[in-house]
Amino acid sequence: MPRRTPGQHFLLSAAARSLSLRDVMGLTEQEAAAAFRAIRWAASGGEPTCPECGCLGCYEYASRPIFKCKGCGRQFSLTSGTIFAGRKLSVRDHLLAIVLFVNAAKGISSLQLARDLGVQYKTAFVLTHKLREAMAAELKGLVLDGTVEVDGCHVGGHVRPENEKADRKDRRLAENTSGKRRCVVVLRQRGAPEGAAGSQGRTLPFALAGEAEGVALVRSRVAAGSVIHADEAASWDALHAHYEMKRINHQQAYSLDGACTNLAESFFSRLRRAEWGQHHRISALYLGRYAAEMAWREDHRRQSNGGQAKRLVGLALSQPMSVDWSGYWQRRRAAA
Ligand SMILES: [Zn+2]
Repeated sequence: MPRRTPGQHFLLSAAARSLSLRDVMGLTEQEAAAAFRAIRWAASGGEPTCPECGCLGCYEYASRPIFKCKGCGRQFSLTSGTIFAGRKLSVRDHLLAIVLFVNAAKGISSLQLARDLGVQYKTAFVLTHKLREAMAAELKGLVLDGTVEVDGCHVGGHVRPENEKADRKDRRLAENTSGKRRCVVVLRQRGAPEGAAGSQGRTLPFALAGEAEGVALVRSRVAAGSVIHADEAASWDALHAHYEMKRINHQQAYSLDGACTNLAESFFSRLRRAEWGQHHRISALYLGRYAAEMAWREDHRRQSNGGQAKRLVGLALSQPMSVDWSGYWQRRRAAA
């Protein structure tokens, strides 16, 4: 295992780079497919399992990359029944997209990915959303415990100020907002860093209309007996009846008597950098998905990029075909 110099930033260490674009470009389609196969059917040592009946006995065609179940007779491919079902791109292109996606610490826009891969914007848009969906699957039903930080931040709904000062309005007032502003509430568990002994802290984000809705979420996603750190916002007062609370007034200090929400803030800073630097505008409709992506990046930031890519391939191949994203553009055309 490559060593890390003390004090060196993780991303600068050799341990952070275990898979490069050059590595993937050097693979043949068969080699990329073999890698997907080993990840998808890891439980059976890479032996294909029928997605229909779960049967292990399957024929492999010599002429095409297709399998046939000896039990139910269904024909299936490496990606049938997964989020990548019905794919037009090769397996190697998917692997390339995944490496580009995990390497982008602040996220990658669909336009940029489209240029990197030489595919249509629409293709890149659907592909990145499928990857976000796979990342979000890791957070489903997760309940946090121990010490948990909770905080909210507003995203989107920018109103451009009028040119002349006399025409400008107070954009902080509710009546002068665009109505598209959303709040992301994050619950972030403090814990041992990834790879270390002990529980690993996870990050759970939610896109809501307002911070006040966050109280019910905290009740359902943070175990009783946990200690919650929150700022001075009145919306969190209701939590005192259910948890041991530590409050920090950000007007006075960012950390006082052990109370702070700095972990939640670093999640927001990554989300903001993605919004400002990559996507420029995140629609309210997809905000929760972008937030889940950033939470995943935050939680796995100390894993090598090869480890992240493998984890993401595993998540994508264990998720069923996406209802939202399968045939997305075809449906849009039909509805127009
Ligand atoms: Zn079968």
